[in-house]
Amino acid sequence: MPAQLTFTAPRRAKPPRHLADLTSSERADAVRELGLPAFRAKQLSTHYFDRLVDDPQQMTDLPAEGRGELVESLLPRLLTPVSVRTADSGSTVKTLWRLFDGALVESVLMRYPGRVTICVSSQAGCGMNCPFCATGQAGLTRNMSTAEIVEQVVAGARSLAHGEIAGGAEDAPLRVSNVVFMGMGEGLANYKAVVGALRRLTDPTPDGLGMSARGITMSTVGLVPAIDKLAAEGLPVTLALSLHAPDDELRNELVPINTRWKVGEALDAARRYFDITGRRVSIEYALIRDMNDQAWRADLLGKLLNARGRGWVHVNPIPLNPTPGSKWTASDPRVEHAFVEALRARGIPTTIRDTRGKDIDGACGQLAASETDLAL
Ligand code: SAH
Repeated sequence: MPAQLTFTAPRRAKPPRHLADLTSSERADAVRELGLPAFRAKQLSTHYFDRLVDDPQQMTDLPAEGRGELVESLLPRLLTPVSVRTADSGSTVKTLWRLFDGALVESVLMRYPGRVTICVSSQAGCGMNCPFCATGQAGLTRNMSTAEIVEQVVAGARSLAHGEIAGGAEDAPLRVSNVVFMGMGEGLANYKAVVGALRRLTDPTPDGLGMSARGITMSTVGLVPAIDKLAAEGLPVTLALSLHAPDDELRNELVPINTRWKVGEALDAARRYFDITGRRVSIEYALIRDMNDQAWRADLLGKLLNARGRGWVHVNPIPLNPTPGSKWTASDPRVEHAFVEALRARGIPTTIRDTRGKDIDGACGQLAASETDLAL
């Protein structure tokens, strides 16, 4: 019996409308509907995306009269922090957020010397049911809206600008340089909201955050039609394919979506994504002791990738992070090393992913937004 997959999110009340849900012309319309001149939309956008201001008191270019109403109507509070945990001497920060309806999601901010990466959630929970992932085990609560996704990045940018995140080089600009859709959820199963978020992240300021698409990574279990659709959006973000096994028999178990789109189909879609966007694809592979870490699987993976050409892909093995109740553990370091070398010997660039935040359950696959976080 294949594990259950959930594509359709339960119907729930919609999160309040927010500026970040709207294109710049939709924002102008919304402001006009409130009886205000359209240029107020630009001012609000500048506060939100460029100055990273969320306190109406600081929006002094907006007339005091009606300011509160305008801000309430276009910048409603979408995320309320419930708990914040830090690791790596304060340079890794995991935040548990409560959404308007009580749903819980997490994001993780990681500051490095030359860059700042935020790992965001795109759904509350996840319907893809991968047995080694804590989020997958919790099931799908609901899809997130575009603004709920974007707000995680804006909140991260704000705390960075306020000097709340340790680490990094002194002279490095205080900007979020990278966004990875590797938090809770399967982003491509919430396609419309996620593409909206990609647009807001890359729209030039003040319409959006003005990030480079190159700094954004969309991670997926391999929803083939959605990968093809994304390739055609003209948004050259990096695609990461969560493969975890090169053979259908094992992948059916580890990544249940494989019962719908097989290894070969997922890899073909990844190769097409490269052809269309020119962005080298990442293959994610959590190394699980005695499950998927055998030399023959490394060889088979190398063979399958090379069969689709050279220079289009690299492999990111991730030592499995422990999750509650899971019987699996990370591979032995020697086995991990051999796996990497086998791929490199076939000419495939391979780098072990350094995962942060393991001690705060903030690493890949550990985000579960559990109530135990609330106690902290
Ligand atoms: N739904 C997306 C994003 C999920 S999280 C996807 O599946 O790609 C991002 C990555 O973390 C995925 O590659 C996922 O397979 C991996 N992951 C999940 N659980 C993990 C764990 N326990 N240890 C290491 N990586 C894990």
